[in-house]
Amino acid sequence: MTLDSAAWIIHIKGLVQGVGFRPFVYRMALQNHIKGWVENSNEGVTIHVEGILPQQELFLKNLKQQAPQAAIISEISVSETAPKNYLSFKIRQSHNFSDAITEVSPDIAVCPECLLDMKKQPHRIGYPFINCTNCGPRFTIIRDLPYDRDHTTMEPFEMCPVCRNEYNTILDRRFHAQPIACKSCGPKYSFLIHEDNELMIKQIPENRAAQELAEYIDSGRIVALKGLGGYHLVCDANNEDAVKSLRLRKNREGKPLAVMAGSIANVKKHFTITNIEENSLSSWRRPIVLLTEGKPFSASVNNGMKTTGVLLPYMPLHYQLFEHLKTDAIVLTSGNISDEPVTISDAEAIMKLGRVADVVVRYNREIHNRADDSVVFIASGTERMLRRSRSFVPSPIALNQQTEGIFAAGAELVNTFAIGKENQVILSQHIGDLKNAETMIFYEESFQRFSKLFRFQPTLVACDSHPDYLSSQFARSLGIETMEIQHHHAHIASCMAEHGLDEKVIGVAFDGTGYGDDGTIWGGEFLLCDLIDYERSYYFDPVPLPGGDKVTHEPWRTAVSYLYKYFGKKIFEDPLDLLKIIEPEHLELLLQAIDMDINCPVSSGAGRLFDAVAALSGVCTHSSFHAEAPMRLEAVMAANCRGKYVFDIEGSKIVFWKLFYLLMKDLHAKVAVSEISAKFHNTMVVLILTVVKKMRLETGINKIVLSGGSFQNRYLLEKSEELLKEAGFSVFTNRKAPSNDGGIALGQMAIASKRRAMKLID
Ligand code: ZN
Ligand code: ZN
Ligand code: FE
Repeated sequence: MTLDSAAWIIHIKGLVQGVGFRPFVYRMALQNHIKGWVENSNEGVTIHVEGILPQQELFLKNLKQQAPQAAIISEISVSETAPKNYLSFKIRQSHNFSDAITEVSPDIAVCPECLLDMKKQPHRIGYPFINCTNCGPRFTIIRDLPYDRDHTTMEPFEMCPVCRNEYNTILDRRFHAQPIACKSCGPKYSFLIHEDNELMIKQIPENRAAQELAEYIDSGRIVALKGLGGYHLVCDANNEDAVKSLRLRKNREGKPLAVMAGSIANVKKHFTITNIEENSLSSWRRPIVLLTEGKPFSASVNNGMKTTGVLLPYMPLHYQLFEHLKTDAIVLTSGNISDEPVTISDAEAIMKLGRVADVVVRYNREIHNRADDSVVFIASGTERMLRRSRSFVPSPIALNQQTEGIFAAGAELVNTFAIGKENQVILSQHIGDLKNAETMIFYEESFQRFSKLFRFQPTLVACDSHPDYLSSQFARSLGIETMEIQHHHAHIASCMAEHGLDEKVIGVAFDGTGYGDDGTIWGGEFLLCDLIDYERSYYFDPVPLPGGDKVTHEPWRTAVSYLYKYFGKKIFEDPLDLLKIIEPEHLELLLQAIDMDINCPVSSGAGRLFDAVAALSGVCTHSSFHAEAPMRLEAVMAANCRGKYVFDIEGSKIVFWKLFYLLMKDLHAKVAVSEISAKFHNTMVVLILTVVKKMRLETGINKIVLSGGSFQNRYLLEKSEELLKEAGFSVFTNRKAPSNDGGIALGQMAIASKRRAMKLID
């Protein structure tokens, strides 16, 4: 078709709502003398275009090339239409409420134009709260819909005449930018510093704020800095004393700390990165990206892990800071003590973080919705979520079924929940470990806030089948119909939902812990499942976990249990390194507890097997944070080692006595841990391949879905995917939602909506 008629209809699909796209279209239309209109449609925006052909073509080209940074155009289609002889170009207002919902955009990193304006616009020179329709805070400041200033925490700031004029000028980049602000009317930073053991407010002239802050950091001090979705604790990433003292004061014993580098060039000074990693780092979402270290920061940043979480500046102040800093990178870790939710209130920051930090830097705009920095890693050339929060939430994920009215309560650790609107799933921000009382309050409060913001009324609740999960208890307390969903079924369904799969698949769910239908703990599971139901086809040989929950902090307990199970008491006469560190009486008590089944829940968790191997090989006998042992085991792995151990399949059980027998032999022969780790990882990959091949023979099913926290292990994920594909399988892995328990809510939503659609419930 030749497009030479005087009028076109352009349909644009993708992420084009709530990101300043319609005002952008308007500006482009005016620039190119185009008449007609733009409006939101179900899948994006629709534009009616009238003009003369060269202008129309230029307009189309501009749309593609100059779109706002947060817009993602996935498809543009152009068709001819009858001219209406419009006299002007208009933005048609949407009156549909579901449109308003899609307008709740995630927070967007400050855009390049605003960074330029910060150098040259008289009323915004050096002004760190600069933003425009293409960038700035969104979700973190919104209280209610529709998204306008009065419904955000910008409400107390009255626009000055200059800002108001820009806000009302349709050709201005700040036309209808709700958080618009300038030096004379917007929020301001203020400092509190310790003097005589008390935090005193220090007035610092605005133009000196970044410089002063940089001086504090360069001199080794710790700063509590208010960010977009919560406070951060900040110090020089190259100053070992500063990092050590931050860890100590924050009670963060082992967990790696995230680092903000001033620029991509600074990142490249420390890491060799791929294009995909570079794209993730500099995307407008500015997530923390796990990078494998070349030249390290100070040792306490990641405490011996091979990977470090790195991110680039995303608030104007971050950029200003790096203009003054001598160091090339700063630790930027969440502003909280231990496992509490990140601090968002200034009062709490002064009370709690004031004890930790030498300086507290706040600003006088409220954070309404807490959002931690999101965390991603790249595996098989694709970005994967580890924590989906700031700048991703509340972007919905679409399903093939109606989700309206379904509340998915999520898991208990690294919790997120989800609400269903039409066919969309709106996942909450990362909530955290609900066993922490403050985190549970955050969970309940966020559920209330999401319900209000998205006009959500639950009519069906989906929760984990674990009777003790606090999320499940909360779900039941709502007093509406509740559907219990098995944990690993939900993991697999989360990945199916992402890929639009609605059929029988082979699901490989590997994680630490999940409640099984027989009342034991599951986690090394091969499921034959669809979105309705599942069959547990194969699973890891269960072992008792002496001490119950204690095993997550003391992986050596699980190691002892495996050895006892497979080799009996005799094995402990052997002077293995691990066994030397255990008191003989302690060991005796542990074995008795197993014999008498006292506080010894039985588990088939894959995470536990990783724990046991990490402990036996001396990589991690005691862990100070969740999943430390498997992470350390992966970190020491030798590259290019092809060795492996063996295992047996007995009925439905995958049995590991040969693995442990060979592992013990290697330990006695003083084989390097790097090699032991590699052999173990290779065994897991071969195990997956072997079992699913068996299942393919049995069922004829060729689609494999991998999910569960163990697939945060990059080697396991990449190698399994590679070998499975070589063996002719179609392989599906998590991308949009985390494979850890942060993705459980999505899986629960997919199963609940499917069962409801099939009328399997009332
Ligand atoms: Zn901007
Ligand atoms: Zn102003
Ligand atoms: Fe899990």
